[in-house]
Amino acid sequence: MNIAIIGAGPAGLCAGRHCLEEKFPFDIFEQTGDVGGTWNYVDSTEDQNGIPVNSSMYKDLTTNLPKELMAYEDFAYPNYPESYISQKQVLDYIKCYAKKFRLENHIKFFKRVLNVEPQEDTWLIEFEDVRNKRKEVRCYDAVMVCNGHCTEAVIPEIPGISNFQGSVSHSRDYRTYDIYKDKRVLIIGAGTSGCDISGRIGFVAKKVYVSCKSEPFFPLANYIHQKPLVTNMDGNMAVFKDGTSAEIDDILYCTGYKYNFPFLSSKCGVNVIENYVHPLYKQIVSIEHPTLAFIGLPLLTCYFPLFDIQVRFFLSSLSGHYQLPLKKTMLQDLNHAVAKMSSRSIHKYHVLCEATGDYFEQLATEANIKRISPVITKLLMYVRTHRNIKDRFRIIDDQNWEKL
Ligand code: FAD
Repeated sequence: MNIAIIGAGPAGLCAGRHCLEEKFPFDIFEQTGDVGGTWNYVDSTEDQNGIPVNSSMYKDLTTNLPKELMAYEDFAYPNYPESYISQKQVLDYIKCYAKKFRLENHIKFFKRVLNVEPQEDTWLIEFEDVRNKRKEVRCYDAVMVCNGHCTEAVIPEIPGISNFQGSVSHSRDYRTYDIYKDKRVLIIGAGTSGCDISGRIGFVAKKVYVSCKSEPFFPLANYIHQKPLVTNMDGNMAVFKDGTSAEIDDILYCTGYKYNFPFLSSKCGVNVIENYVHPLYKQIVSIEHPTLAFIGLPLLTCYFPLFDIQVRFFLSSLSGHYQLPLKKTMLQDLNHAVAKMSSRSIHKYHVLCEATGDYFEQLATEANIKRISPVITKLLMYVRTHRNIKDRFRIIDDQNWEKL
């Protein structure tokens, strides 16, 4: 059973580490020249080797979860005194993990997967070397898709935006707050990025408005002006749902990302509609082709423990330690989960949040694999409600710290 893993971010590396444990031969395809995925910071937002910059990481990011929730189950961080750490500390940790398990020997760097197609009992993987565009096809028995989901921006249409004279961008391309000095900035969206980036831009901007559809994910910094939805732009004036308006110089969408699998052929039978990836069993295994798995789809959770348990769940089905239910049963299970949601909220199907603990337990019980310690999910819930705003801006200099 040889396995193709797409992506050498934290999920793909975790997949490789457990393949080693289970003695499955595997290759990891990585389109860039390094491991770490999103955790690689690059100043540029321009294409590299003809492919869009994959990382949406910004300068001076402090993690939004304590490091204890960003660790693989059997690999601890160095003894940093602080809980909320920098992008660089996370990247170093991921690189140490790859080194410890000698994963680099299995990674095909600069190889971008172009097509994944089932053929009888195998998978054809077509990939190209992004430097010389040379293409190749190889056969595998199973595929793990670990391509991340923070690159394809969601940009909602705002009536009148075409007449707006200022800059319009998405958090995917945000790198540092300097360019917003003395500007009046409108941030659309108050999820993790909107809350964090608004606090940073607010250090230097004249005014920062955050337009929120619902309650902000974290408390906004006290110098931010919270606003309801923008109904339209009237020239450079943003008009909000409560009838108020504000003159704006720059707009930054912090409206999240959508799943994107440009390399899956239609024969894979996996579709994305309204950001709902289906039909998958337990958000992991393709019900049509159970040797195809997706690692890391769930949102608002603790990703590193998630990767561990999802990978172990899938590999135990490949090794025969655990037998997946019949197709009919998997479909019933999925339909049951979907039926619990209103049709309007299907785009939130992958949001785990408070359900993280139950989800981890379900996977462990069903496949009879090692559980994720309940302390992890308890801590996740605690952090959700007790996050201290100063923790998020720890990296930023003392002068700005005083403003918080
Ligand atoms: P990625 O890290 O995106 O890795 C995917 C890899 O797949 C990349 O290396 C990419 O080059 C490769 N790839 C993609 N397509 C192909 C292809 N066709 N062929 C070959 N290779 C391919 N999470 C936290 O837990 N805590 C945080 O504080 C946190 N902060 C974040 C801040 C920002 C700004 C962003 C954008 C995300 C943050 N996250 C955070 C979430 C973060 O995405 C995850 O922690 C983690 O990086 C996801 O890992 P992944 O391996 O699934 O995806």
